[in-house]
Amino acid sequence: MTHFDAPLADKDPSIARLIAEENRREHDTMRLIASENYASRAVMEATGSVLTNKYSEGYAHKRYYEGQQVIDQVEELAIARLKGLFGSGPQDDTLHVNVQPYSGSPANLAVYLAFCQPHDTVMGLGLPAGGHLTHGWTVSITGKYFKSVPYGVSAETHRIEMDEVRKLAKEHRPKILWAGTTAYPRTLDFAAFRSIADEIGAILVADIAHISGLVCGGAHPSPIGIADVVTSTTHKTFRGPRGGMIFCKKQHASAIDKAVFPGLQGGPHNHVTAGIAVAAHEAAQPAFKEYARRVVDNAKTLGEALVTRGFDLVTGGTDNHLLLVDLTNKNVAGKPFAQALDRAGIVCNYNSVPFDKRKPFDPSGIRIGTPAVSSRGMGPGEMEQLAGWMDRVVKAPTDETLLASIAKEVKEVCDKFPAPGLRL
Ligand SMILES: *Cc1c(COP(=O)(O)O)cnc(C)c1O
Repeated sequence: MTHFDAPLADKDPSIARLIAEENRREHDTMRLIASENYASRAVMEATGSVLTNKYSEGYAHKRYYEGQQVIDQVEELAIARLKGLFGSGPQDDTLHVNVQPYSGSPANLAVYLAFCQPHDTVMGLGLPAGGHLTHGWTVSITGKYFKSVPYGVSAETHRIEMDEVRKLAKEHRPKILWAGTTAYPRTLDFAAFRSIADEIGAILVADIAHISGLVCGGAHPSPIGIADVVTSTTHKTFRGPRGGMIFCKKQHASAIDKAVFPGLQGGPHNHVTAGIAVAAHEAAQPAFKEYARRVVDNAKTLGEALVTRGFDLVTGGTDNHLLLVDLTNKNVAGKPFAQALDRAGIVCNYNSVPFDKRKPFDPSGIRIGTPAVSSRGMGPGEMEQLAGWMDRVVKAPTDETLLASIAKEVKEVCDKFPAPGLRL
């Protein structure tokens, strides 16, 4: 065996051991981080392939390097499959797809580059209300290079009220109007966003990073054909490798492509493109629709089970894959609760709630999502159990004996639900 052919475990035992440990952790815990999932073995095989070796600046049949016989086919196949999933079919000419963004944030940056000049006004849901950093939040480049006027959620309903968005949009006339969320448990009214964008001549961008798997799985309304541009990650509910993708109407194809390359990026990550193609193939199977439905059903069941135990949910429940739990009525804040849950084998993130009186680094809530547990095939029974464990932890978040014994119960349940992609 040559030096280059040595398996990872021989060549680099330190990293091999850490990967094995992470594999173990992902098996033994209930992963409730709303943006996380389990990529399949096939997706990971494609992502860990020789395609990582190839440079392919440009687009299929218009590259700056030779030797693209295979890569062009990989990229075209990924695009055709995504058109089949999100559009009217693999040949859909009205829908343009770019699969080269390195991730969700670079995909969004490409949208700014395609349509905006520095200091233009842009509008998206503010971070504290459940929006994403890249929709113009202050600490993001998108809030520094553009004039950002965020909309929020209503003080009464904690929902996005379209009349308020319309009023603000007409007053500030943003060039880009973002419709997309990262910590918001309700469906967006894409048609209402469309009519506001039309009234002020804005480009409407739907960012479906969290929900793209639900959208193509038929468990959430689609903004395709409504928004001018739709951006997404590929690794959240879509369950692909870590990457990004952009859909747009035909007339914006050239602006978007030029913004991704050469505007922002160099060579595309061809190994990831192949992984996206595999994920799109998986998402076209009937089982994926069942999975998408199960994600939403599980979130609703978990929400109801938590409400029964006195937990306060932002907006009272969910339409999608996630729940925001406001712990103000409990005697523990979001961060210490999330840390206690982690020790009990239940992994989530602390999160601000609308109009939070606490600081972003020590907020009042947690965000929990059901994509990963649903990918393992867990259902209503496990959601009830989860709510029960969370209730026990919230009552005694510093009781290490309790946390350790729950972690054991969690592992026993996890043993019954093999996770996609993991090796045991
Ligand atoms: C996750 C997310 C992104 C960014 O994705 P990264 O791949 O982490 O850069 C963008 N927009 C929304 C709404 C997201 O939830």
